[in-house]
Amino acid sequence: MKKYYLLRFDDITPQMAWSKFNPLKNELELLNISSVLGVVPDSKDDNLNIEEYNESFFDFIRHCKSIGDTITQHGTNHVYSQQDSGLLNINPFSEFAGLSYEEQYIILKKGKDILIKENVWEPYFMAPAHSFDKNTLKALYDLDFRAITDGYGFYPYTKENIILVPQLFSKPIDLGFGISTICLHINSMTEQQISEVLDFIKINKNKFINFEEALEMIPKNSISKFFNILSRDITSASIQTARKIKKVLK
Ligand SMILES: [Zn+2]
Repeated sequence: MKKYYLLRFDDITPQMAWSKFNPLKNELELLNISSVLGVVPDSKDDNLNIEEYNESFFDFIRHCKSIGDTITQHGTNHVYSQQDSGLLNINPFSEFAGLSYEEQYIILKKGKDILIKENVWEPYFMAPAHSFDKNTLKALYDLDFRAITDGYGFYPYTKENIILVPQLFSKPIDLGFGISTICLHINSMTEQQISEVLDFIKINKNKFINFEEALEMIPKNSISKFFNILSRDITSASIQTARKIKKVLK
């Protein structure tokens, strides 16, 4: 068994912290490492407005797509109208979880239409705040999405016909097997943290795969499927218990 890493960037918007993101992204391109980019189609979240508006935002996203990065739709407006932590139970707020199927379908379609118009849509989704529910997955399926970057466990699995590619921690975790998605929020990272991540990537560059390759790693026989479900339930229970303990200790 081998360990694989995926690199995921949340909160890609026209007013993100480009001064921190661009140097790292340039290095990644030199290393030939592709990224999973969480692109907010029409950000209305003031918390994501860090730097000057980038007028050529979608030119940049088209460039990324052309060099093999994966474009995921990171919500539509990235505004948390709901107080629902959804299926993963990570954050008590959401743009989607808690709304009806019809409401979610309409919001998701608005975002998808923008990405289609800009010629960057791919059938992949990244839920803001990791919060989505069964209705989100159903609406995504009906809108021809195929997979999302989120979920417990070590290998992809399917829920409501959508493939979930696990994402457990922001830092790389090496158990010697499985896919570890490194989730980066560049807006809130320090230069020190960015350089540490880059050092890790350089050392492990041969272990990085792209999103499509991760999707291929969905277990196919019944024994590996069984162990995958078991590992998903164990990681889900232990991570949620650890979060509760952390809250109690605070
Ligand atoms: Zn986000």
